[in-house]
Amino acid sequence: MPAITVENPLELPKVATPALDQRARRVTSITTAPRGLEGEGFPVRRAFHGISQHDLDPFIHMDQMGEIDYGPGEPKGTPWHPHRGFETVTYMMEGTFLHQDSIGGGGVIENGGTQWMTAGAGILHIERPPDALIDSGGLFHGIQLWVNLPSALKMTTPRYQDIGSHDVKLLTNDNGDAIIRVIAGELGDAKGPGSTHTPITIVHVSLLPGGQLVLPWNPNYNALTYVLAGEGTVGTERTPLHDGQMAVHVDGDFIVLGANETQDSRTHAFEVLILGGQPIKEPVAVYGPFVMNTRAELQQAFEDYEAGRLGQIPAEHI
Ligand code: MN
Repeated sequence: MPAITVENPLELPKVATPALDQRARRVTSITTAPRGLEGEGFPVRRAFHGISQHDLDPFIHMDQMGEIDYGPGEPKGTPWHPHRGFETVTYMMEGTFLHQDSIGGGGVIENGGTQWMTAGAGILHIERPPDALIDSGGLFHGIQLWVNLPSALKMTTPRYQDIGSHDVKLLTNDNGDAIIRVIAGELGDAKGPGSTHTPITIVHVSLLPGGQLVLPWNPNYNALTYVLAGEGTVGTERTPLHDGQMAVHVDGDFIVLGANETQDSRTHAFEVLILGGQPIKEPVAVYGPFVMNTRAELQQAFEDYEAGRLGQIPAEHI
């Protein structure tokens, strides 16, 4: 799993270790993400399936895209579509996505890069593999996360940020068996790139077989661990967790992870995404591509979309 990596993790700064009076978070649920199809038919796993909105807040939705090894002509994307009322974070570990939107934003997301899009009051966008990758096929693996906006910011001005993999903050643990990529927000005293209106932390960890990891975690944030590949455990009670599963961690100052001694021969490491943010604690109304507070606001979003008020497809479009 390429993302961004280093030859010798021991050269990286070390993640902060918890103080003696701090507490490990408890694991309250383990769920398994069902498979589905997104956009023009690319395979995803719905990572948040079966988890309550209370535990997810401020997150709404997360898809693991792939991992899939496409044949020639098979790679797929999305058609042009609208959003309102939230922000998206797209993280690409394998393969390439092109993005274009109705506010002039656009770019290439690949090799551990991240794209941030604030839909706010309204945006139209498209995501698709480049022609060369459609022709050749190839490996494709990414994450798309929806981060909610509080009612006061749902109609904020849309914006787009493109963040390359070199901006990701890299850390390790004491014995150097973890590569910790801070993709967003703060982890202990380390700070990653990218900014969402709602404060969040996103970390991608590769933990070598048999490795143990303790990660400081903002006690005010929720905490979710999703396994991208491999097998391991979560919490001090070492609850088993494997690829496609998600753990909810509550109450405490740090998160405990362990990698099994034996891993999948292809991925080698226990690959996990750990995410959390400041809960918004407001009613959530979701329908399709819109995330608002009330049904009336969803109805308004549809009317505004139909009337072209969420944006127009640019004349020069991919
Ligand atoms: Mn979209």
